[in-house]
Amino acid sequence: METSSPQTTGQKVFLETFGCQSNALESGHVASLLLKDHFSLAPRAEEADVILFNTCSIRQHAEDKVFSRLGQLADWKRDKEGRVIGVLGCMATSYKDQLMERAPHLDMVVGPDQYLKVPEVIRQASRTGQSQVLADFDPVYFPENDPNRLSQPHKAFIEIMKGCDKFCTFCVVPFTRGREVSRPAESVLEEVNRLAQAGVKEVMLLGQNVNSYGLPSFPVRKFNNGQLGEPSSPIPMDKETGLGLKSRGGTLPFPQLLREVGQVPGIGRVRFMTSHPLDLSDELVEVMAEMPTVCQSIHLPVQCGSDRVLKRMGRKYDVAHYLGRVRKLRSAMRDLFITTDLIVGFPGEAEEDFQGTLDLLEEVRYDAVYSFKFSPRLGTPAARMLNRVPEEVQDQRLARLNEKAWNHASESCQARLGLVEEVLVDGPADKTPGAFYGKSRQNRTVVFPGTGYRAGDLVKVKVESHKVANLYGTVLKTNCEL
Ligand code: SF4
Repeated sequence: METSSPQTTGQKVFLETFGCQSNALESGHVASLLLKDHFSLAPRAEEADVILFNTCSIRQHAEDKVFSRLGQLADWKRDKEGRVIGVLGCMATSYKDQLMERAPHLDMVVGPDQYLKVPEVIRQASRTGQSQVLADFDPVYFPENDPNRLSQPHKAFIEIMKGCDKFCTFCVVPFTRGREVSRPAESVLEEVNRLAQAGVKEVMLLGQNVNSYGLPSFPVRKFNNGQLGEPSSPIPMDKETGLGLKSRGGTLPFPQLLREVGQVPGIGRVRFMTSHPLDLSDELVEVMAEMPTVCQSIHLPVQCGSDRVLKRMGRKYDVAHYLGRVRKLRSAMRDLFITTDLIVGFPGEAEEDFQGTLDLLEEVRYDAVYSFKFSPRLGTPAARMLNRVPEEVQDQRLARLNEKAWNHASESCQARLGLVEEVLVDGPADKTPGAFYGKSRQNRTVVFPGTGYRAGDLVKVKVESHKVANLYGTVLKTNCEL
């Protein structure tokens, strides 16, 4: 029989994460809360007493996977008393109690702003069998990294804002993550300083739209009679203007925050994600170009290359505005790495709209593209739109788009051949024995042969080949300084 030390609850938790970097950050946060509370982590579900899914609602496929995993666990739950199953993340706030109806063996549903309660909720569920749903928004709560329990010792994600006020017609985020709230700059800078003192060299500032960090909020738009209803996060309101205030405590405009983070001693690389093209200011471009610690890479989702479809998507910019922002970025930074998100088959997308997307790809020539077929999300305006594009047409368009995007990504890799990349080492390369891998300043994966490297080492690698999107080369210099 397995024994537990007085310092552990004896319960092992398996935490499976779906979705974006925010979820990865928050899973790390939940894991560190559990370890602090004397739980231990199980590497596999088979070894666990508690199984938690940190979920994503962005596409139907991600939700289907979770429902299927939940269904498979009904017998597992019955086999041993005290076992606990929980759902965290976006599905917790979008479905709430309905999750319990669909999976009656589920014990806990906990939304992103309630993670501090996760250890206690597990204990209660295990002891009493009582199920709980905690999915309220809390504008003040932001997860922070514990410098002693980082999943990687040399880099960290930092949440600087949460929620979104853009209300794109296809997107569920304003409902699952609430209204946009910026974290006080002082709190962000304190965390970055703490992490730098613990040896972290690279930070990624995260938010649904970091470019609107610290800006005044818009009034809530009342357009949705769908199942999800009005987003309900309690936003502090300005009495005079009636507008929501996005922050409590002081914030700075995002470019200034970026500048301050980039000046923290010990931090050699700063990245940020995601940028909405509407709020990408000239000042931000200047900071990216000027600050040596700010990496010259940007994820700038365009979603579509047709003004007609962009309008139906509620994106609030047109193709000309988007291309103008790209030109501004490229004229300031010759070595810029630029990626995007694209949706094909949005309701009403005609062949000429899709051709606009292909033309835009041709013009921008992205270094990488994340492409998706339209996925209707319950309760969003786009889910109720008519003129759905047939599935087979969506498939064909996705294939055409991916072929073009792939050619551009491949050309972009070829252009690196013979160059020397500064690589921050992440660890041994799983698929290439005797090799290590890390990230270049542009955030490309670089693989190189060697022995004895540790995560956080900085090396210079001459690029000799590329496979898929990865670069391969040999080390020219070790022990470099950021
Ligand atoms: S900007 Fe649009 S797509 Fe992005 S999170 Fe906000 S609502 Fe969703």
